[in-house]
Amino acid sequence: MKQYKTEKRNQLMGFLMSHRDEPLSAEQIAEGVPGVALSTIYRNLAHLADSGDVHKSLSADGHTVLYQYYDKPRCSSHLHIKCVSCGEMKHVETELSQDLAEKLEEKNDFSIDAENTVILGVCKSCHDKGEK
Ligand SMILES: [Zn+2]
Ligand SMILES: [Zn+2]
Repeated sequence: MKQYKTEKRNQLMGFLMSHRDEPLSAEQIAEGVPGVALSTIYRNLAHLADSGDVHKSLSADGHTVLYQYYDKPRCSSHLHIKCVSCGEMKHVETELSQDLAEKLEEKNDFSIDAENTVILGVCKSCHDKGEK
């Protein structure tokens, strides 16, 4: 029974990892992981969000919680940008992240905590939609 549970979680993680650049609702995730009850999905997502393996955000209308895979070992080495309108979070290339961090450090004597830094803004598709 325990193994059965782990398998479901792995399935869930696998799906999230293959959509790492997309915030998804629990319903969308449930569709991508057939055979797992929505309540199980919710429970696992809550757990993963607590442990920091999944990044939680709100949809543009504020009604839906969206989940996105967060790769801690990889993601601690670069910055992230997040759209305040649709909640999409993107990974900034490591090279560019380091560049920005170095410049800030040089000019302001300030070192960025990349792991905990999310730069907020508006993504192109939201910008094009005329939302701010
Ligand atoms: Zn990242
Ligand atoms: Zn957006």
